[in-house]
Parts: sequence; structure tokens; C-alpha cells
Amino acid sequence: MKRRVILLGPPGSGKGTVAAQLKKEFGHRHMSTGQLLRDEAESGSALGCHARSFLERGELVPDEVVLELVQRWMAASPGDTGFISDGFPRTLKQAELLDEWAGSQGLDIESVLFFECEESVILSRISGRRACPRCGSTFHLAHLPPKREGVCDDCETVLVQRRDDDVEVVRRRLDVYNRQTEPLVSYYWQLERLAVVDAALPYNELYAAVRAALAG
Ligand code: AMP
Repeated sequence: MKRRVILLGPPGSGKGTVAAQLKKEFGHRHMSTGQLLRDEAESGSALGCHARSFLERGELVPDEVVLELVQRWMAASPGDTGFISDGFPRTLKQAELLDEWAGSQGLDIESVLFFECEESVILSRISGRRACPRCGSTFHLAHLPPKREGVCDDCETVLVQRRDDDVEVVRRRLDVYNRQTEPLVSYYWQLERLAVVDAALPYNELYAAVRAALAG
């Protein structure tokens, strides 16, 4: 099983849910920059307050803020070099900095999985998405309901709809994705690191495709 993996794809394509399941099944560390930013905003720190306005508008948080959180996260368990990154990198600058950092540590990114998905599928998925404000687990009213209605399976906290899952904000996030993150697909394609999965598949089939792509 590959250990240093990037999940790349539009918001709502299933990256977070897949990363959380890989963590449960294989013990990968899950780095979600979106969750790190939401936690930081919630903490009320100066960095978090700065990030909050970008999160609420559905825009990308400036690279230096994201990098500060990524570096802190990496430093928190220096002995363990494996991770599944969901939502990072999101700009070419971030991708280049990640490559530089990995190179300086003598590590390589073993796989970049691109979650390919149509916008219409994403919009329907995000409108039914519910998240746990405590542990970050995500569910879907129709496709992946929690065992007990409205409550997180993992920590029993009441589920909420993320503020940036509002339809207007989602449209902006998709636009930001198309302009700033989609170019990473050709970046990693040229580096011959990209594998593509069909993220429109029903969840269990998508997870099986991801497992197959990361095997070996
Ligand atoms: P996500 O949970 O991955 O959908 O991210 C939610 C929001 O966090 C995004 O809409 C951005 O505002 C912000 N964000 C997450 N990751 C990054 C990143 N790598 N660079 C900049 N902003 C980010």
C-alpha cells in the first residue's frame, strides 16, 4: 500500500471520506488542510481569524497561512513519513513547495490520485453533505447516511451543514478549483505520477478503485 499520497479533485468529489476510510483501514495519517483551517478559525487565533474570511467566501486561503499549518502538522509526528493529503496542494506554488520539502527530506510522493467528477454530480453531493464539527467525519443524507439520524457515527456529535456548502459558495469554490487547482492535473501528469479514479461511482466502488490504485 502506497504511503505518501495526494488526493486531488474538486470539492465534493469524495476525497475526505475516502481519506478517512484509508486512515481507519490502513492507519494512514490524514492531512486535510480544509479541516486544519476550520479548526484554526474555530480556535480564534490570529492566523485562524485571517483564514476565516477566505473560508466563508469559498476562496483559497493565502499560501503562507496554509504552509504554516502544513509545516506544523508535519512537525507534529516527525518519525512517521506517511500521509494522505486531501486538499493540499491546491495551487502550483503549493505543489512546487511540497516537492521541494519532500526532496529535502529524501522522500517522494508515491501517488497522486485524481478524483474525476462532473459538476452536476458535485452539486448534488454537496447539498446533501453533513459534517461532524468535532471530528470532521462526513456523511451524506442519501448516499452515506449516519447510523443514527443527524448524529456522527464516530463521536456522536450532532452533524451540521458546513457554512461553505451553501450552493452559492460551492459554485465559487468550483470556479476557484477550475482556475487554480485544476492545472495541477497536468503538472502531475507530466511528472508521470497521476492515476485517475472515476469519482462519480457509487461510494463503495470508488473506495475499491482507490484501494486498487494504491495497492503495491
Ligand atoms: P476543503 O475542506 O478541502 O473543501 O476546504 C475548505 C476550504 O478551505 C477551501 O474552500 C479553502 O478556502 C480552504 N483551503 C483548504 N485547503 C486549502 C489549500 N491547500 N490552499 C488554500 N486554501 C485551502
